Amino acid sequence: MTTFHPIILECPQCGALMSAYELMSYTVHRSENYSDGKTEFGMPASKDISICTACRLPFWREDGRLPGDPDWEEHGDLGSVMDLHDLEWTFDDDRDEKTIAFYKDLLDNGFADTDEREVFLRVRIWWSVNDLVRHLSSWRSARNLRMLRAIIKHRREMLSLFNTYRKLFDQNLEQLIFLYIKGDDVDLLYLANMYRESGNFSKALEILDKVERKSSSWRKLKKKVGKKDGLVFNI
Ligand SMILES: [Zn+2]
Repeated sequence: MTTFHPIILECPQCGALMSAYELMSYTVHRSENYSDGKTEFGMPASKDISICTACRLPFWREDGRLPGDPDWEEHGDLGSVMDLHDLEWTFDDDRDEKTIAFYKDLLDNGFADTDEREVFLRVRIWWSVNDLVRHLSSWRSARNLRMLRAIIKHRREMLSLFNTYRKLFDQNLEQLIFLYIKGDDVDLLYLANMYRESGNFSKALEILDKVERKSSSWRKLKKKVGKKDGLVFNI
């Protein structure tokens, strides 16, 4: 069962009050899991970064959380807080590129003041660059020649756009791997995938060999590493 708890947030920059919900628990109905750890469908969008409805600046949600239970008599008509998905450009054709720029700007401007927050931003940068190629259709799914041409054209365009982010992608992943290993809860399969996506296939293989439980995810990942395929995939 999914349950929400109403809370009030106070913008750390301008002091505006906004209503929000805190997720207490949720049930996954159906989800798609990707090698970079992103889960789609069935999971509520992450709300860790909120956007103030008054000054429109982003802030960490936990920094705006007012302690205790609010007086709803007094605050019953507050507007609800925004997040990334409420920004004007969220339906633009180049929203993926704008999302990458959004997180990159936050990182460059020192928005992350702890390792944990830096990991959060770097994972978002990683995911949003991967989003460019996350849902590429396979040419095998073409039902006729026209569709085949369209798929090939789209794949070529998106892969070339993805490659324009290669430098950012690699530098970001390198720093993320460093922070991830520095943290104390390392999932070897996830780490092996980070190396695979950064193009370090021998290191990915070395880590995969240390994993004791050879799950179906392990086998899929091993196959990709064997083919030297570094793209994100549905795991
Ligand atoms: Zn504000």
